Amino acid sequence: MKRKIAMAILLCFTFSFATGCAEKRDEAQNMLNKHAEANLHEMTTFSMDTVMQFTIYHENGEEILTDAEQEIRRLERLFSVTLEDSEISKLNAQSGLGSVKLSADTEEVLKHGKEIGELTNQAFDIAISPVVKAWGFTTDGEKHVPAQETLENLLPLTNIDDLVIDENTSTAQLLKKGMAVDLGGIAKGYASDKVAALLKEKGVTSGLFSLGGNIGAIGTKPNGENWKVAIENPLNANDYVGLLAIQDCFVITSGGYQRYFEEKGKRYHHIIDSNTGYPADRGLLSVTIISKDGTKADGLSTALFVMGLDKAVQLWRSSNNFEAVFVTEDGRVIATEGAANIFAFEGRDNDFKFETVER
Ligand code: AMP
Ligand code: MG
Repeated sequence: MKRKIAMAILLCFTFSFATGCAEKRDEAQNMLNKHAEANLHEMTTFSMDTVMQFTIYHENGEEILTDAEQEIRRLERLFSVTLEDSEISKLNAQSGLGSVKLSADTEEVLKHGKEIGELTNQAFDIAISPVVKAWGFTTDGEKHVPAQETLENLLPLTNIDDLVIDENTSTAQLLKKGMAVDLGGIAKGYASDKVAALLKEKGVTSGLFSLGGNIGAIGTKPNGENWKVAIENPLNANDYVGLLAIQDCFVITSGGYQRYFEEKGKRYHHIIDSNTGYPADRGLLSVTIISKDGTKADGLSTALFVMGLDKAVQLWRSSNNFEAVFVTEDGRVIATEGAANIFAFEGRDNDFKFETVER
């Protein structure tokens, strides 16, 4: 089959100056498409509390997707806060008491968490868990606005410097009793990196996956075109504000519209500002990060949402490894220069205005 396709392409090039090539080109394209379709494999699974979908093109696709699923479950067993024997649960249970041994992945994800915390002046804070729990966001219990006193008591437990990692012994410790780590803002990005690496190692050169809306692209579509990924309209789940044309990167979005509850007519979402203990409220509806680094894209999408547009743009200007698209409460869709180059704004059914920011 492969030889036939190669022949068809070769023929088309050979006769490219002759009439009738268009027909042959169509034929070659059809064969390519058929070949790609034969190798198309899809999988949907539920892990890390969310739906995960995969599309890959590879002759051993089914086997490879089983491996990808197992890899995600392996990471979930390490990072989950709901599984009592996960490494993160053990670390949290030992807060104020002592250190726990870490596997390479847990050590790596915690280090990334701390790094992104430093980079964003603690807008990204994996030690925010006690406050997130007080709002009821990680438990099945009732979500509610915590008492101010409760928040004031919990905020001193959210300092990321009190998570100490010892690289020599591969151990970590939470210095204060009651501290807890929550990887909800970074775990899916980390899993995206690991899964993308696994797929590539197994020979996949074309694929697209979504870990609960966090997108990973491997290469291009089989026909060489870029993958098209929509950025959701935060005000309407059935609409989108535009399309990104991507290859070989991650696209990760954070927004207050993704998880929230209402109390006394006011909406409270799940991304918490560790300065106030309240849901971040800096004028953004969503932040989408495009990067070759999935872990960073995930951490930064959460952090930039907390920071607000001005500080987020400042951070983008001083970095060179991500691009961003912001949707603001005052109706603007703002793309950084690199994002604007690959973004098709579609303000069809909404009143959003499109802007770009330069370096
Ligand atoms: P994401 O959807 O990636 O923005 O992550 C949101 C999740 O990260 C929340 O559900 C919390 O579990 C956790 N989280 C909330 N606020 C923060 C924060 N300021 N820094 C880090 N993680 C957070
Ligand atoms: Mg995130």
